Amino acid sequence: MDLIRGRALLDAALEEARAGLEEGGIPVGAALYGADGALLGRGRNRRVQDGDPSMHAETAAFRAAGRQRTYSGTTMVTTLSPCWYCCGLVRQFGISRVVIGEARTFDGGRAWLAEHGVQIVVLDDPECVALMRDFIEARPELWLEDIGQRDRRGPKV
Ligand SMILES: [Zn+2]
Repeated sequence: MDLIRGRALLDAALEEARAGLEEGGIPVGAALYGADGALLGRGRNRRVQDGDPSMHAETAAFRAAGRQRTYSGTTMVTTLSPCWYCCGLVRQFGISRVVIGEARTFDGGRAWLAEHGVQIVVLDDPECVALMRDFIEARPELWLEDIGQRDRRGPKV
């Protein structure tokens, strides 16, 4: 998948991220697409909204997609590079491809995914970068909570 095709899939995830921000949540959105390009499910980080730290954008999109016979050929699109937990989900279910809005703010486990045969497309999208930059500036404590760090010197997860 090239950058142009990847960018075309980003809109639903970006809409989810913006909606999360409006709700007072963490602005990360995701969408899962089938091998045929159909949207299977979309969602956003709902740590704050649901009081559930396991409700990441990727897991929300994955759950919204319901049961699928296979994940071969599917694409997970996310506005921010996926954390280890969501990278585990990608590998557990054999999702073929991950399109990442930006990986400047947070690197996560994308290199690990690539090492294990998951196709990675990093868009370096300016709106995704700005969303996270503005959010972290406004709510640094919430960001650190979300990435599992008590403070900036805390252990990386
Ligand atoms: Zn995650």
